[in-house]
Amino acid sequence: MANPNLLRRPVPESLNPLPGVADTLFVQAPNAKVEQVAQLCATDQLGAVITIPTGKSRNTTLVKTVEKFREIAGPDATFIADANQYSGNNRSFAGEDLDEDWLKAQWDTGLPWALTNSGYVSKNDDASLRGLLEAGDRLAKTAAGNFMLGIPLDVQLVADRADEVRDLVEQFGIPVAFMLGSASDPLGSHKAVKGLVHLLKSPVPTSLLRTDMSAIGALCAGASIAAMGTSSALRHIFPPANGFGRATGVSAMVPQALSMHRVETIALAMGLTPEELHWNCFCDGCQGRKLDHILDDVQAFRHNIFSTLDIARHAMSGPDSAANLQSWKSTCTAAQFVHMDIASSTGMRWDTPSFLGGWVKL
Ligand SMILES: [Zn+2]
Repeated sequence: MANPNLLRRPVPESLNPLPGVADTLFVQAPNAKVEQVAQLCATDQLGAVITIPTGKSRNTTLVKTVEKFREIAGPDATFIADANQYSGNNRSFAGEDLDEDWLKAQWDTGLPWALTNSGYVSKNDDASLRGLLEAGDRLAKTAAGNFMLGIPLDVQLVADRADEVRDLVEQFGIPVAFMLGSASDPLGSHKAVKGLVHLLKSPVPTSLLRTDMSAIGALCAGASIAAMGTSSALRHIFPPANGFGRATGVSAMVPQALSMHRVETIALAMGLTPEELHWNCFCDGCQGRKLDHILDDVQAFRHNIFSTLDIARHAMSGPDSAANLQSWKSTCTAAQFVHMDIASSTGMRWDTPSFLGGWVKL
């Protein structure tokens, strides 16, 4: 995972690249973090999905945020704007018309791909899902530029009815970006991972936004782009009843375990087993240091992104999607053993994230 030869190796093109988009792995962050994200995009092959708050000044905020991003990241890094209207307590639900003005605002700033301001599709709500695709189809008839139809939906539709969802997407043929809603990790079950992989294998360019380490699995399975959130609230959509995300402190990735943990928890576990090699990190931020050097949000942010990029490059260094998926599964299996090892050697309560099992069983 920390093989230095894999550093700087470009992430290979996905099965369905989006024209004009050089990056496949994206970081998803709120507009307040645009400078931090842009600095990473300037030095690595990484794009940004930035959430722009809704309201009267939305379009002005978009222009300013894109300008700031380009100033730091340069003209080649890709910026995608997310209206984020599908989450939170005041979310909109799918079925309403999509805002063409929001697409125009994105094209006016020169973004190669605009993303629609889609509302949320609840469990079993086929009618709204179809309504959303029909609204996308109406937009496509007059669109002056490229756009992806955002499909923020309850993961149940992906786990139980991926065939129908993919048929519907292919019926309209508009590039889509899925975002998954669930009270816990949406990709924590084998069924959900299997359903997602089926969707990603569609010849229609299909992306996965607002996810966690599963972004790498999604790219291996053929996603056009995949975006990893910088906070737990941006790693999936909490369904309506759950409101906003949970409060969090500073969390850092344990790269060999493929999971995020509070820095206090890492420090405690490291104190009990200081000799273990899984506490070392060779990412561009840490450069061989042990993980307990990470104390604040800025250090954690750099480490989390850089170590994820290394893992993505490693998983995606194969000749094709099948080889990449196999490599990702092996990485997930190895991570499960690291979790068992940490739990048994420290005696601490140490939960293995459920998404690992979801991918391993694929
Ligand atoms: Zn690191």
